[in-house]
Amino acid sequence: MSEIERIDFEKNTQFQFDLAADALGLDPEIRELLCIPFREVRVKIPIRTDEGRLKVFIGYRIQHNHARGPMKGGLRFHPHLDIAESRSLAALMTWKTAVVNIPFGGAKGGVACDPKRFSPGERERVTRALVSALDPVIGPHLDIPAPDVNTDAQVMAWIMDEYSRRHGHSPACVTGKPVELGGAKGRVEATGRGCAVILQEAARNMGVDLARGRIVIQGFGNVGSHTARFMTELGARVIAVSDSQGGIFNPDGLPIADVIAYKSEKGSLNGFPNSHPVTQEALLETDCDVLIPSALGGVIHKFNADRIKARMIVEAANSPTTMNADKILEQKSIPVIPDILANAGGVTVSYFEWVQNLQQISWEEDRVGRELQSIMTRSYQEVESVSREEKVTLRVAAYMLAIDRVARAARLRGI
Ligand code: NAD
Repeated sequence: MSEIERIDFEKNTQFQFDLAADALGLDPEIRELLCIPFREVRVKIPIRTDEGRLKVFIGYRIQHNHARGPMKGGLRFHPHLDIAESRSLAALMTWKTAVVNIPFGGAKGGVACDPKRFSPGERERVTRALVSALDPVIGPHLDIPAPDVNTDAQVMAWIMDEYSRRHGHSPACVTGKPVELGGAKGRVEATGRGCAVILQEAARNMGVDLARGRIVIQGFGNVGSHTARFMTELGARVIAVSDSQGGIFNPDGLPIADVIAYKSEKGSLNGFPNSHPVTQEALLETDCDVLIPSALGGVIHKFNADRIKARMIVEAANSPTTMNADKILEQKSIPVIPDILANAGGVTVSYFEWVQNLQQISWEEDRVGRELQSIMTRSYQEVESVSREEKVTLRVAAYMLAIDRVARAARLRGI
């Protein structure tokens, strides 16, 4: 078993911020203003279990910055949820919304709990109690939650209902809702679609022929499976994919529609016909044109970065590359399309959902696809141009673009 570098998410995000702030020559006062979160809320979530016992959980909402608009970010239910990781993810949301230039700030939060132990009723009561506790600080023009780890469209529906009981019908208070309640068509596959658009632009720019490209994807959940599907539609060969239980490899390419059907039937990828099993470590180190980490943070680290053989990395997951690995990849001239650009398709379609809810209209899916394509293409081109002109990595360029936009908004509003 190889060594693993444990990622300190907060330090990692701060390090990326500092690199870009140095490159921008950011005023020290603005720097301090942008680093410290606007508001950190820790709340008590008491519920009655199905057996009638009282159980108390702790919930968090970190609101990082709202200079450019209401704050936006996911709510997760996870036993390891803590304030430090939430802080880092909230800051990432500020930079992500700024890099794609949609009028939001950044936030993140959730409840420290093990949702696998909940009955549907307990899950609903935890959700409603969280909304009740966060009520003074969330809302369509304040902070708009969305799905994240272990929360889904049903949880968003309960959030909308609980908030609307207090404030009147308010679908724009949350995104990622079921379509029946004003959810955007195309939201489910939006992050994968956005990733595919970015990859097309990057491949064109870097002279990689995607039609002959060999793609490796870690993680086969929402983001990984949709990205795989869009890649095959572009003619690329997805040669290896993995989930938490293991990976599969076929150098001639995997039939992704069949892999999706197999995983949905069997619950895992193991044993997929005409493929070889591959370990998580070996998958990341596979010789390929594009590696797309789409599962966890910190999987490319100082102990394995040197063994990565991909020609390009596209960060579909949040923070999959540690700051130490980043340096090694730069020395190896492996370009990394950073998370705040590569996976921004999800929050972009969430923005479309919010716009539709405020206007009480509904877009057809093809319009969602077109508008997403236009925002992602423009964003890649803007980041690439800063990278070329300033001779910095795409990650530093994306942060520079984002920090500059947020700093300008903060200055114009007055501190
Ligand atoms: P998901 O829960 O649908 O899928 C996660 C996948 O990762 C699953 O296939 C799981 O089996 C796999 N996985 C877990 N541990 C693994 C391991 N050790 N090795 C390999 N695979 C493993 O989650 P998702 O929504 O697809 O999100 C994936 C990543 O993308 C996360 O980092 C998330 O923060 C990020 N992201 C998601 C969205 C979105 O719209 N869903 C938007 C932006 C960023």
